[in-house]
Amino acid sequence: MLTAEQEQVRDLAAQVAQREIAPHAAAWDREHTFPRELYTKLNDAGLMGMLVPERYGGSGAGYVAYELAIEEIARVDAGTAVTLSVHSMICATIEKLGSEEQKRAWLPRLAAGDELAGFALTEPDSGSDAASLRASAVRDGGGYRLNGRKQWCSTGRFAAVVMAMFRTGGAGAKGISAFLVDPKSPGVRVERVTEKLGIHSSDTCDLAFEDARVGRDALLGGEGDGFQSAMSALYGGRIGIAAQAAGILAACLDASVKFATERYAFGKPIGAFEGVSFKIARMATDLEAARLLALQAASLADAGEPFAVEASKAKLFASTAARTHAAEAVQIHGGYGYTTEFPVERYYRDAKITEIYEGTSEIQQLIIARSLLGRLE
Ligand SMILES: Cc1cc2nc3c(=O)[nH]c(=O)nc-3n(C[C@H](O)[C@H](O)[C@H](O)COP(=O)(O)OP(=O)(O)OC[C@H]3O[C@@H](n4cnc5c(N)ncnc54)[C@H](O)[C@@H]3O)c2cc1C
Repeated sequence: MLTAEQEQVRDLAAQVAQREIAPHAAAWDREHTFPRELYTKLNDAGLMGMLVPERYGGSGAGYVAYELAIEEIARVDAGTAVTLSVHSMICATIEKLGSEEQKRAWLPRLAAGDELAGFALTEPDSGSDAASLRASAVRDGGGYRLNGRKQWCSTGRFAAVVMAMFRTGGAGAKGISAFLVDPKSPGVRVERVTEKLGIHSSDTCDLAFEDARVGRDALLGGEGDGFQSAMSALYGGRIGIAAQAAGILAACLDASVKFATERYAFGKPIGAFEGVSFKIARMATDLEAARLLALQAASLADAGEPFAVEASKAKLFASTAARTHAAEAVQIHGGYGYTTEFPVERYYRDAKITEIYEGTSEIQQLIIARSLLGRLE
């Protein structure tokens, strides 16, 4: 029940993915390449401003279109998909919470793909427990002085703007504020580039803030609103990660169907054995369930309805399914699956992160459980 525009976005994303990403995905993975120039091409297809209204230079295609596009991109390269997902979630957050000046300053550039956006919440000593973060923003003249370290910032080295959370007040969530910071500004340093298991075509780095000065216009929302702003960004982002997981799952299914019909054992294609074909049947079923859960959350978001819990359910289900079925896809490929001759080993490595970032599976379960039981502790 997609609109013609949503189908168009999906088809366009699939075409761009096949033409501009698929031929390079294995090499980007092998060589850990961040394909910066690709994002200009994604912009030509209108994919960089899907969550930005037309008046700020985006397409305003909405969350359903975003889910469909991310899935198609992840089907060929999960690293590119997360870069696009995080970028889009920051665009949406600036649009939702930013001042008119911030929207005018950032959205047209981000929607055009000229500039990329990142998100910096996690620190060495706080991940799931984000409300305990320690990086500080202290008032200084007309602005703020930022100090501390942000860990595993996606797109950190290539972003023109990072939505970063700092403590401006006392302990806990209410003491946190969000800022829009250029990571290349004086006082901000790339402390470490992260080597990781998968999503090698995405950039992940730690940012050190050492007396970095920002103006008052860098504050996103009010002082003390930063934790809620970060959560608001993550609700939308989780639709993107659910879509990324669904895309990896779709790639596993494509590869497994092909291999199961082409590979022979005991005189038959291996797909003739129930031990193989039933794995594929479950993969296909979970893919549709993952996609539908993500689309449900996306439809609610587009309708302006609450969608946080649905986004958590979608991310929880899709990421578990992606990790489980990526392992099965390797199994179906036998020894070939363990080699770089086939792409399923990459899908297997890429799938795992979907259970961790933008809230681990345990945190998603906490959110879903609390929506049913309240806070019992
Ligand atoms: C490749 C990559 C990219 C990333 N990109 C970004 C980014 O762009 N921006 C950003 O801010 N962060 C980013 N992150 C960080 C990511 O979001 C965190 O790693 C994640 O939120 C988990 O935090 P943690 O690693 O500190 O684990 P912890 O919070 O220390 O958790 C460790 C384990 O304990 C469990 N746990 C913790 N609390 C509970 C609880 N209450 N109940 C049950 N179990 C619990 C967790 O589920 C997990 O299994 C990235 C991480 C990676 C690896």
